[in-house]
Amino acid sequence: MSQALRIPILMYHKVDRLNRRSQIPGHYVSPNLFRKQMIVLSAMGYTSVPLSHLYRSDVKLPRKPVVITFDDGYENFLINALPILKSQNFVSTVFLVANQLGGTNEWDSRNGDVEERLMDVRQILEAHSGGTEFGSHTSDHADLNAVPKEEARRQIVDSKVKLEETLNLPIETFCYPYGRKNPEVEKMVAEAGYRLACSTEKGLNTDTTNPFALHRINVRRDTNVPVFIMKLLRGKRSDG
Ligand SMILES: [Zn+2]
Repeated sequence: MSQALRIPILMYHKVDRLNRRSQIPGHYVSPNLFRKQMIVLSAMGYTSVPLSHLYRSDVKLPRKPVVITFDDGYENFLINALPILKSQNFVSTVFLVANQLGGTNEWDSRNGDVEERLMDVRQILEAHSGGTEFGSHTSDHADLNAVPKEEARRQIVDSKVKLEETLNLPIETFCYPYGRKNPEVEKMVAEAGYRLACSTEKGLNTDTTNPFALHRINVRRDTNVPVFIMKLLRGKRSDG
């Protein structure tokens, strides 16, 4: 990645119609809005690359790269997002919770939020053959600032091993659940063999951005097309 390139990394969670009982309605981007966003992205001349391409020196980045990421690995990614991505020739990177493949978002539902299905191994491999790259989002969606240090290390290391063994795919990128991290946690992620990690800090990325604290653009339910364009161009928006 060069200093001249200012690379946006988009952050999505669910591409689905809003579940009215959800405690985090902002995480639902409707399929209709997602389609409009992807058409705009294409019209603006962006070419998507998987997140891993940002560290690979053997891959030349396109003139106007964008990385599209999805946290948690919901089934609605496969059902709603992937066909739209494919229609625009876009690829993406999805962060999986290693102990919940084929499970649900227990980390939310145990606090009273609605339950959503997560992709199982067959679905993950189907998404992979459709151009999707996968990274780790820990073993149990742990808050790495809240758990003891050794548990944080287990969440980071074991999830990589488990995903690589289960999927037979390299897992070289990481995403901090809730965006929660500290310098010690960043160091653990690097030591575990990951090459890049996504935070929830806002803004674009250049070659001076910490590769273990990459910035992302939060795309939400209310990110209509004008706001989407503004976020891409500015890399951030003061009200989030
Ligand atoms: Zn998450």
